[in-house]
Amino acid sequence: MAKQTANNSAAPEKMAFQAEVKQLLQLMIHSLYSNKEIVLRELISNASDAADKLRFEALADGALYEDDSELKIRVAFDKEARTVSISDNGIGMSRDEVIANIGTIAKSGTKEFFNALTGDQAKDANLIGQFGVGFYSSFIIADKVTLITRRAGATDAVRWQSSGEGDYTLEAAEKAARGTEIILHLRDGEDEFLSDWKLKTIIRKYSDHITLPIVMKKSEWKEGAEVATDDDETVNRASALWARNKNDISEDEYKEFYKHVSHDFEAPLAWSHSRVEGNQEYISLLYIPTKAPFDLYDRERRHGIKLYVKRVFIMEDAEKLMPQYLRFVRGVIDSADLPLNVSREILQSSRDVDAIKAGSTKKILSLLEDLAENKTEDYATFYKEFGRVLKEGVGEDFANKDKIASLLRFASTHADTDAQVVSLKDYIARMQPEQEVIYYITADSFAAAQHSPHLEIFRKKGIEVLLMSDRVDEWLLGSLTDFEGKKLQSIAKGDLDLGKLESDTEKEIHKKIEDEAKSLLERIKKTLGDQVKDVRVTHRLTDSPACLISDAEDLSGNLARMLKAAGQNTPETKPILEINPTHKLVKRLEAETSEAVFSDLSLVLFDQALLAEGGVLNDPASFVKRMNSLIS
Ligand code: ADP
Ligand code: MG
Repeated sequence: MAKQTANNSAAPEKMAFQAEVKQLLQLMIHSLYSNKEIVLRELISNASDAADKLRFEALADGALYEDDSELKIRVAFDKEARTVSISDNGIGMSRDEVIANIGTIAKSGTKEFFNALTGDQAKDANLIGQFGVGFYSSFIIADKVTLITRRAGATDAVRWQSSGEGDYTLEAAEKAARGTEIILHLRDGEDEFLSDWKLKTIIRKYSDHITLPIVMKKSEWKEGAEVATDDDETVNRASALWARNKNDISEDEYKEFYKHVSHDFEAPLAWSHSRVEGNQEYISLLYIPTKAPFDLYDRERRHGIKLYVKRVFIMEDAEKLMPQYLRFVRGVIDSADLPLNVSREILQSSRDVDAIKAGSTKKILSLLEDLAENKTEDYATFYKEFGRVLKEGVGEDFANKDKIASLLRFASTHADTDAQVVSLKDYIARMQPEQEVIYYITADSFAAAQHSPHLEIFRKKGIEVLLMSDRVDEWLLGSLTDFEGKKLQSIAKGDLDLGKLESDTEKEIHKKIEDEAKSLLERIKKTLGDQVKDVRVTHRLTDSPACLISDAEDLSGNLARMLKAAGQNTPETKPILEINPTHKLVKRLEAETSEAVFSDLSLVLFDQALLAEGGVLNDPASFVKRMNSLIS
């Protein structure tokens, strides 16, 4: 940002936008041109937020109302000046707030957003919607925007002006009424907005749900022209949407309301609207977005559930009203019981809030169950966007653990694609008659899981294995040890016990192979020394010569690597090398008489097994050297 010195002189001070703002403006003007009507929606949405903030601050300091407590939004137009204006008597902004809120993008995830841009206008238009366009959308229809604002309780007002080309000016201004007025100086060709009928149509279409009255001058037709009268008319319905009867709310109204509360541009995927009575009385209107926001993994994310008490906005707080693993949920909870002066501290320890949170969590989980059952495509969309976050819930929410587990979906060897569509119930239904546990493998990529040598015996026997490669899976498996009476078991940890899935003849053959391999195992163990915990015969492999296993109570190789990558101290664990004595390479090793070649071959076998499970070699150069000497 450019200089930010205080300026008391009358001349407007010129300031530069933050670089990203400039880029955003350009992009928006080009990509949202066919969506001009949203400008009004965004500005009205901001005016409504400003009124909410004033109401909240006035709970502690009634003087902020300045004898004007009838909050409203006014939309007006001036045919001669070719302007449309939106004014509110909400909280207003101080000079510093104008600079911080309008001159900079204070949004988290901004960097990620700009990285995601492709240059393809259609795709970028979608992205920009996810990011939320807000105030800057003004420049879609205006080539100059004037904002005059006075913060509630302050005397000085400030005028901000820009033509959206890299800089803006700021100067002191006079403003009798508290709040913010935004004047759009329309671009050439945008005269359609200079119409009473047009503006009212847009307001009813996009902003009917706004709780404040949106007023315009009543107009009359005189000699074939619209003429404004002196009377005001409330254009929208001006009642809290969530407090209305479900049957009186259309799909479109629900969707528009979502865009307002979520600052999202896209329609929601699903919602749940309910009125709870009894011990706790509250209304909740909760939405599941279609797209994950940029800041899903950002601790500083701004949006969540809006808490109202008897229609008065109190605060927006994701953590107290929704568990972390449902942090993507947006919407409104309006309590009839909480005190109006409820603070964050009270929220922390309020039993009432806990009950609301528990009830709302159940509502969302039921909504998801309903989607999973009846709208599988929508559920797939949901799962792609939020499945990884939902997985956190198994460890986080003990009371709902089973419910969450049954909502999870995984990739598996059944379809053998990376689509996460298999539920644990599906898996159990397909289990072989003799099978007792749910088998899975974890790896740091889907390909590594899918091609893991550990799967060989399972593929041969047609036993399904879950293929897990999301980072969160290792944590998930720490809490999800069984489902509906079936244990979950890694195929890369501990002894492989296929139980009844193995016939007596197979067991006898294994025993024989093990007995015959004893001296070979000793030789390899001596060669590898303390790189391994043990060397033993495998019964998992059919095509590969060797693989690595973690001991049953050790961290899995994948988890150990993740922890290390995250800079955490992990207990030093060593893998177990399992070899397949029926493999050609192992037979050759057994027949090898030169100690030097035997050592090279053993080390290559070990390094290969490490590579195959996604591990990193300690000494790649030596590996390559050994490989080359063996090949030649
Ligand atoms: P968002 O509404 O998602 O925060 P916007 O770009 O729409 O993003 O607005 C940016 C910020 O500017 C708002 O968060 C608010 O702080 C401030 N702002 C915008 N319009 C108004 C207004 N009418 N009154 C007070 N503050 C406003
Ligand atoms: Mg906004």
